[in-house]
Amino acid sequence: MPPATLNLETLTIAEARSAVLSGSVTASALAAQHYDRIAAVDPQINSFLALTRDRAILQAAKVDQAVKSGDTSTLGPLAGVPIGIKDVLVMQSAPSTAGSLILKGYHPPYDATAVAKLEAAGAILLGKLNCDEFAMGSSNENSAYGPVHNPRALDRVPGGSSGGSAASVAAGLCVASLGTDTGGSIRQPAAFCGVVGVLPTYGRVSRYGLIAFASSLDRVGPFTRSVADAATMLEVLAGPDTLDATASTQPVASYATDAAKPVAGLKIGVPEEYFGEGLNPEIRAAIEKSLDALKAQGCSIHKVSLPHTKYAVPTYYVICTAEASSNLSRMDGVRFGLRSEHSNTLANMYRESRDEGFGPEVKRRILLGTYVLSAGYYDAYYRKAQQVRTLLTRDFLTAFAEVDAIVCPVTPTPPWKLGEKTDDPIQMYLEDIYSVAASLAGICGISVPCGTTADGLPIGVQILAKHFDESTMFRVGSAIESAQQF
Ligand code: GLN
Repeated sequence: MPPATLNLETLTIAEARSAVLSGSVTASALAAQHYDRIAAVDPQINSFLALTRDRAILQAAKVDQAVKSGDTSTLGPLAGVPIGIKDVLVMQSAPSTAGSLILKGYHPPYDATAVAKLEAAGAILLGKLNCDEFAMGSSNENSAYGPVHNPRALDRVPGGSSGGSAASVAAGLCVASLGTDTGGSIRQPAAFCGVVGVLPTYGRVSRYGLIAFASSLDRVGPFTRSVADAATMLEVLAGPDTLDATASTQPVASYATDAAKPVAGLKIGVPEEYFGEGLNPEIRAAIEKSLDALKAQGCSIHKVSLPHTKYAVPTYYVICTAEASSNLSRMDGVRFGLRSEHSNTLANMYRESRDEGFGPEVKRRILLGTYVLSAGYYDAYYRKAQQVRTLLTRDFLTAFAEVDAIVCPVTPTPPWKLGEKTDDPIQMYLEDIYSVAASLAGICGISVPCGTTADGLPIGVQILAKHFDESTMFRVGSAIESAQQF
């Protein structure tokens, strides 16, 4: 029987898994169809940095063997599902560059926990996905391996830093992907590319094997084509890990079951600070429609205030650069990747390797971070930022005493043209205005497609919920999704 031809652009995890289990397509054929599509489409998008074909073929053969033997009881919830991995997560023997030249040639000897968990659940890992260098950016133009193009409008950015993860799912190159979100890097590219993206609560998913950007903010999460798929993925990814002391031991809920529960009776908060000047009117209108859909399903809508929101962007850029400057000190030309050939002393080798290996945005952040941590400025910048971080967290806790979830925009604008903001880092940083406060507070969030602009550019709505309340976040996300007509 020839393999079934599935629509790779719309295929969901649930559909892919059941097609493989029913035998209408083999996992091997499904992986091959995706590789063919990557070869045909990705030259225009640039989302994959490396393909891990050998590993995918082996894993697919294992799944196919189980299906053939008739014993599918061992097959996990992602059996046969082709998935891509952001290049900041390590995969044994596959190149892991984090989008940087300094890690060119680095082949890690182990798997990140999130990667290992996906494979244990039956996923077929297709390859490594392009991203901003060390996950620093909002447009995926900071990758040393070229920008990613938005599949919905090739002359526009896909968002960042997980631009490759969002674009690959949107373009039908993998059914789902892993990204990371430090200050918006899952939610924002999901919104820009018209897919679902989840920021799990800090500590919900292990960070073991994640090349660190800012350790107190970094989270690993999924990109998918539906809220139900995102819930399935998070159920696989979440949970404690002996290799990461910050991975929480809180029990993992049945997200997929909870996502389908009705929302009637839930209280939804709308923060006035997220609807002020600078919000694109088409985005505002799309969010208002989402709120109407929730009302129609029995939610009540309440105004809430997050009064310290205006400090979120500067606070985030002080804390993340401080942590980045410390984390990136391990990139010294000795242990991983690139070593400069233009030096004759040890000190010069460190300096030259870092100079040749890091791109301009990473250098800017190392300088900033070193400055805010320096003896004379620590109290004025770093300590102050930590204090404001507490205030931002309290804003959310106060709001969540009144409401079950918060609904707001993900981004102030639709995706912009490639090159439009690259000369003005402050403009770029301001794009993170609606995403960074939740990052600093450690709460969970999801970006769900909620419409398009008159030009056909995707719009996302952000749903935030309190720490470890992913169930409510998914429920509200599903309710908004079910009201959409695409
Ligand atoms: N745009 C933000 C930054 O450049 C967020 C990045 C991220 O979440 N990794 O820091």
